[in-house]
Amino acid sequence: MSERGLLIVFSGPSGVGKGTVRQEIFSTPDHKFEYSVSMTTRPQRPGEVDGVDYFFRTREEFEELIKKGQMLEYAEYVGNYYGTPLTYVNETLDKGIDVFLEIEVQGALQVKNKVPDGVFIFLTPPDLAELQERLVGRGTDSQEVIAQRIEKAKEEISLMREYDYAVVNDFVPLAAERVKRIIETEHFRVERVIGRYDKMIKETKVVR
Ligand code: 5GP
Repeated sequence: MSERGLLIVFSGPSGVGKGTVRQEIFSTPDHKFEYSVSMTTRPQRPGEVDGVDYFFRTREEFEELIKKGQMLEYAEYVGNYYGTPLTYVNETLDKGIDVFLEIEVQGALQVKNKVPDGVFIFLTPPDLAELQERLVGRGTDSQEVIAQRIEKAKEEISLMREYDYAVVNDFVPLAAERVKRIIETEHFRVERVIGRYDKMIKETKVVR
């Protein structure tokens, strides 16, 4: 059996640009990990495709999956559920393929409890004023929702200490490059490869 893939958790405050950096990361062919499409109960935005951007579901459907234990993590965020379906993640990791989650902070902390050997990457805004500008510029949320998101961002930034890496989103291509390098380097950690070498040491017969 191949070694299990790495679970990569890419997170950070709302509006910091997680989605944009994630798209940049996946826009080039030089990555070997797969994106786990999240499920949400929030309304579909123009241009979004069901099954590509999110699996758009009703609250009833979502709650049913929670009850059945089929979510790796989920959070209620600004009035809607967001979560990671468990089966896809497990099946992909079992094939030895890394899985990339882009999720908000509460969900990331749940994953940390369940999968402590995941790679936890926190995307930070250069500063909060810029974050606010970006949310307004995106034009997808009302003033009230933006205010809620900024409040939440303040709380979330202090949770950075729970993560392994902090990446500043000062320039999208650069942030994407940093994330890719982190993932690549994680594969070289001794604790991740030692099993393979222990097996080799045990199985290799010395030829005399
Ligand atoms: P948006 O509504 O802007 O697409 O997403 C709102 C927030 O939910 C973002 O911070 C996004 O990263 C987060 N999010 C997306 N998918 C998931 C998920 O599966 N689980 C959790 N916990 N958060 C998610």
